[in-house]
Amino acid sequence: MRLSNIKQNNKETTKMDIKYELVEKRKEKPDENNLGFGNYFTDHMFIMDYTEGKGWHDARIVPYGPLSIDPAMMVLHYAQETFEGLKAYRNEKGEILLFRPEMNAKRMINSNKRICMPGVPEDMFVEAVEKLVKCEKDWVPAKEETSLYIRPFVFASESSVGVHPAKTYKFIIILSPVGAYYPEGVNPVKIWVEDEYVRAVKGGTGFTKCGGNYAASIAAQVKAEENGYTQVLWLDGVHRKYVEEVGTMNAMFVIDGKVVTAALDGSVLPGVTRDSIIHILKDWGMEVEERDLSIDELMDAARSGKLTEAFGTGTAAVISPIGELCYKGEAVEINGFKTGELTQKLYDTLTGIQWGKIEDKFGWTRKIDL
Ligand SMILES: *Cc1c(COP(=O)(O)O)cnc(C)c1O
Repeated sequence: MRLSNIKQNNKETTKMDIKYELVEKRKEKPDENNLGFGNYFTDHMFIMDYTEGKGWHDARIVPYGPLSIDPAMMVLHYAQETFEGLKAYRNEKGEILLFRPEMNAKRMINSNKRICMPGVPEDMFVEAVEKLVKCEKDWVPAKEETSLYIRPFVFASESSVGVHPAKTYKFIIILSPVGAYYPEGVNPVKIWVEDEYVRAVKGGTGFTKCGGNYAASIAAQVKAEENGYTQVLWLDGVHRKYVEEVGTMNAMFVIDGKVVTAALDGSVLPGVTRDSIIHILKDWGMEVEERDLSIDELMDAARSGKLTEAFGTGTAAVISPIGELCYKGEAVEINGFKTGELTQKLYDTLTGIQWGKIEDKFGWTRKIDL
């Protein structure tokens, strides 16, 4: 596949002709009090195919169900796959809002380019999400803190065992009604600073949302859990010195009243939540530093009390306070293992915008035309 093809494709502005094949009888909806995360899937899914020389074609909304997979399908062998994660929120008027879906569309284009897959043009991506959510509107839960998690993904579907970019791909979107990521509410988590395994290096795929990154990260996650920690804080892949991000979240540290987070320079995932939090902080007149932060500086700040709050940011959990860090056997507590004031205020502000409870002065939410 030539890159010029991909470029052209990304500029396409045509409205998609989506074919609908709907189920006869819809499934019973799960109890909104016990959704958990990623346990239920809706009645339909969106599928679109890509063929080299033809582009994206055959957009369709069909009953949710198993795919038929050839054992030689390339994604199973060489992991050409990327995904996205965003949510649809029901506001008090019963309307359905998306949060910055164009950011996910753009990020997927960048992810796909890195692993030589065609990008899904931004307007196609957003339209596909909107049409599928509209079709499944009754699945968007209404209870406080619940939402409809949207999982778009692209993978190499060609059957071949040679290593080369595939000639065919599939873009699929599935939906899952979810409850709060942490059912006990916003509470601090214990984080294991990983100094043996690494997740990403500059020049690699750290900035992409590709399944392969997660495959490489599971061993450290298991190790953290064995030691009684919830997630891993990754250090940079070369020096194992600079703080990068937490398992599925970007990481932010409040040091001396300034918010410090890793810069986006190739090995860190450019989170939509990260970007939104930075905008909100700057809007409040706070200083945000996107820079190298060494683990030694961070541990010193924790020991001396200069590190007053720390939190992870990501679509699934929104904001997750960090109550303890453990590095090379030394555990330090942050803010007495309590959710910090700024952390809580950021959580309330961002979720307030997402659920349409407070004014969206940044123009981030997008109402679905029902
Ligand atoms: C998805 C993801 C994030 C968070 O990104 P959001 O767009 O805020 O959800 C952070 N780090 C990694 C590794 C991720 O995969």
